[in-house]
Amino acid sequence: MENLDFTNYRSTLEKKYAELKKNKDFITGYPGNQNFDYSILSKFFEFALNNIGDPLLQSNFTLNTHEFERDVITFISNLYKKENDVWGYITNGGTEGNLTGIHIGRSHYPEGIIYFSAHSHYSVAKAIELTRSKSSCISVLPNGEISYLELKEKIIENINQPVIILANIGTTMTGAIDDIQTIKEILSDLNISNYYIHCDAAFHGLILPFCNLPTPLNLNDFHSISVSGHKLIGSPIPCGVFLTHQNVVDKIKHYIEYIKSGDCTISGSRNGITPLILWCAIHQKTYDEFKNIAQECIVKAEYARDKMLLNGIQAWTNQYSPIVLFKKPSNEMIKKWSIAPYENISHIITTPNLPYETIDKLIDDLVLDKAKSVD
Ligand SMILES: *Cc1c(COP(=O)(O)O)cnc(C)c1O
Repeated sequence: MENLDFTNYRSTLEKKYAELKKNKDFITGYPGNQNFDYSILSKFFEFALNNIGDPLLQSNFTLNTHEFERDVITFISNLYKKENDVWGYITNGGTEGNLTGIHIGRSHYPEGIIYFSAHSHYSVAKAIELTRSKSSCISVLPNGEISYLELKEKIIENINQPVIILANIGTTMTGAIDDIQTIKEILSDLNISNYYIHCDAAFHGLILPFCNLPTPLNLNDFHSISVSGHKLIGSPIPCGVFLTHQNVVDKIKHYIEYIKSGDCTISGSRNGITPLILWCAIHQKTYDEFKNIAQECIVKAEYARDKMLLNGIQAWTNQYSPIVLFKKPSNEMIKKWSIAPYENISHIITTPNLPYETIDKLIDDLVLDKAKSVD
């Protein structure tokens, strides 16, 4: 590791800037969209902004951007067909949203068992640990979707316990979507009314509302959802959105006189810049442009998959997902292209900023890599 030269801090920063600029074009395995321009917001760095408290209430501290936060919540909840009685806030990312979902679920059902899948993001296991929850890990179908059969069996084993389901609305590795309707049928077949469903929709949560799903995602079908802001939308600061219903969040609300607001967020002091970022991202384009960006990611993934197949590379995608899966390449390839590996597979993600030319170059490299590795 080299030591940073702090005597000449400007040139040290310039060097880092140049390095990041170079790396940016070689990130293919991770879902962060790099296509954005929030330069209009740079003047807001003048203020010690803090969105402390409940964004839906007025607080005594006025250096906040709560009205922008509320507007982002409204936009996203409309994507999930919910117009009234929504409660939500802007989080530090998908992890915080999952933790909040589990925290609220457990507050409703202190004895609840958390059912999650073997392909759930590691933030779920972390939230289970933090909340000291009882849990049950369910295996996945070949495409990465939860095994409904096993889910049902495990629920039956604990039939007297309330059920807290962590549904993946697009897994990190394969982009598989757990079917909320099937899960609800299982609960109804077993006559379970004490349940809570949280959806982890970190990356796919802003893509699926623009796809023609047979049953569109609807906030009325579950209790809460967590979506990342820095993934599909893209943001220089990690962020996300957590959404639930007013009557669901009431369970964890405490009124704090000191800030004259409700406290129901995990962080006390909260980011005032990320609401501006997400608000700009949403309103810099029209709704149709937004929709095109989301849909184009999937078209690009299908292009990458088909081109890999044509070139003899076993590749596949899940429906409605910009994640392209293929056999794990060499370590040099993984490093050069920032590819994400998992057991014997790996993936690239066709984010809005990934140009077709980069996909072509990557596939050329994969073909060479494969030729080299043949025994
Ligand atoms: C990325 C991701 C997360 C975690 O989001 P962070 O913003 O990194 O905290 C959670 N769940 C899924 C499915 C993800 O892909």
